[in-house]
Amino acid sequence: MDKANTILHGTGVSEGIAFGTTWAYLPEDPSLSMPAVPPVPEEEQARLAEALADAREQLTALADRIASDNPEEAGIFLAQKELLQDPEMEETVRDLIESGKTAELAVYEGFSMFADILAAVDDELISMRAGDIRDIRGRVIRNLLGMPQPDLSSLPPETILVAEDLLPSDTAMIDRENVLGIVTEKGNPTSHTAILARSFGIPAVLGVLDAAAKIPSGVPAVIDGGSGAVICEPSEETKAEMMQQKAAIDHQKQEEAAYLTAKAETLDGTDIAVGINVGGEPEDFASCDYCGLYRTEFLFLEQDQMPDEELQLREYRKMLDASGGKTVTLRTMDIGGDKKLPYLEMKPEDNPFLGIRAVRFCLQQPELFRTQLRAALRASVYGDLRIMFPMIGSLDDIREVKKFTASVMEELRAEQIPFNEDIKLGIMIEIPSIAEMSEEAAREVDFASIGTNDLCQYLCAADRMNADATPYYQTFSPAMIRCLSRIAQGFAKVGTELSVCGEMAGTREGIPLLIGLGYRKLSMNPKNLAMAKSIICRMKRSDAETLAEQALQCCTQDEVLTLLKQKGQG
Ligand code: PEP
Ligand code: MG
Repeated sequence: MDKANTILHGTGVSEGIAFGTTWAYLPEDPSLSMPAVPPVPEEEQARLAEALADAREQLTALADRIASDNPEEAGIFLAQKELLQDPEMEETVRDLIESGKTAELAVYEGFSMFADILAAVDDELISMRAGDIRDIRGRVIRNLLGMPQPDLSSLPPETILVAEDLLPSDTAMIDRENVLGIVTEKGNPTSHTAILARSFGIPAVLGVLDAAAKIPSGVPAVIDGGSGAVICEPSEETKAEMMQQKAAIDHQKQEEAAYLTAKAETLDGTDIAVGINVGGEPEDFASCDYCGLYRTEFLFLEQDQMPDEELQLREYRKMLDASGGKTVTLRTMDIGGDKKLPYLEMKPEDNPFLGIRAVRFCLQQPELFRTQLRAALRASVYGDLRIMFPMIGSLDDIREVKKFTASVMEELRAEQIPFNEDIKLGIMIEIPSIAEMSEEAAREVDFASIGTNDLCQYLCAADRMNADATPYYQTFSPAMIRCLSRIAQGFAKVGTELSVCGEMAGTREGIPLLIGLGYRKLSMNPKNLAMAKSIICRMKRSDAETLAEQALQCCTQDEVLTLLKQKGQG
């Protein structure tokens, strides 16, 4: 990189402009060779035992450190710890030591063998475990060599972090104070790094070809997390231009911030209920009307054993206490797909997103489901709690989960344990087959919420986790919009409450469109509340309706997005 104003392009996944100095993250395995004097196997076995124990301790400490902010990431460290305890892998390494290798080489060869086997499996979830094995391979070898572990938790001020890819363990540790921007070669808008960057409020550009090779450390750079531009050694002119854009964005954010405490009402007097989506820990409920999605699976992912009824009850009560009497929509565990419980044997599946996920998994594990429902029902006397079931595909599914819930209620009554007898039961609409049956579904439930993230994945047949499938994962495709319109009509006919809690509900483009299609409840990442309210308070419902009518006539996603950017607030 020697030319000034070198511009690279990627996908902007987290809005904002950041100025800083690049810091290239190139985690490498240390180079290893056999010593001149043959190693003594007993000594190497002892060194191995110590390095493994240290690694386990480090992973537990990492998980503890981030558990409250990022329970999902904490689960990743616990899963890596679990992998370290794999007896077969350890035995392979021990055999290699007995055959005369040093502990370092034995770990390298043994772990690599397992990683290669997993990487070759034609299943993304299994092959992803190969990355985890390589991650822990590096950790154990560094322990053996007495080297420090790479640490992204303390970086120089004003850093633009550049990497080929960021492992979940890397992203979770990022020094949020000093990292002002992120650039990677891999990843897409729905990838892990993107979601975390957005929730940390760090501008990020992913999918920049050869970024790690082209951008060394120590280069002044500016990135635009909206347009996806990465400009290294910006000229004075470029700097001034980007400063201006940054000032405009900062100004917009400031203006939006003023709406955070406002009531969300359109200029022509339509109230919109604005909700928050929450994960493991209670959030601040002050600026929202309700919680439209409480993702309980984080609670299960952050433990190293199945949380029992009492622990779950305590957690659900904590959320209700934080809510200050506002409605909390507890979603039963959405396990399966990409979310595996490290402590539970789960049958490998060829297509886990099309397999035994969420309520399908729960109904196959009735004891787990029963425990969660007992805890949720018992919590219902402490606040305005309602229960929502994910991955509902048919009326059969609705009837089955309702029947199951009724049996749990019966059990509690028999035990004279109090719960809210009028508790509302709802479903997520995220599978096209139930979207097609909206009117009938609306007759069977108290409420529903649309998970646009999965609805898009299943409607467009495009894996939400696969960077290469991003062009096919079209959240604003005309098919999505027509589908959302039909769901709204089906529910309106019956008069059943309907909301949206997928990412779309918290986007500049999505908000006017959804309101125009008839939605009156939108639940989102709390970070988006101010922006959402500022859009709602400055728009007319009648304009949104015209916009939605026009969007329904579009034939391609590009047409829809052009329309929304021109005439919506996007
Ligand atoms: C969705 O699918 O849109 C949703 C909100 O659920 P999750 O992202 O947890 O699958
Ligand atoms: Mg979903």
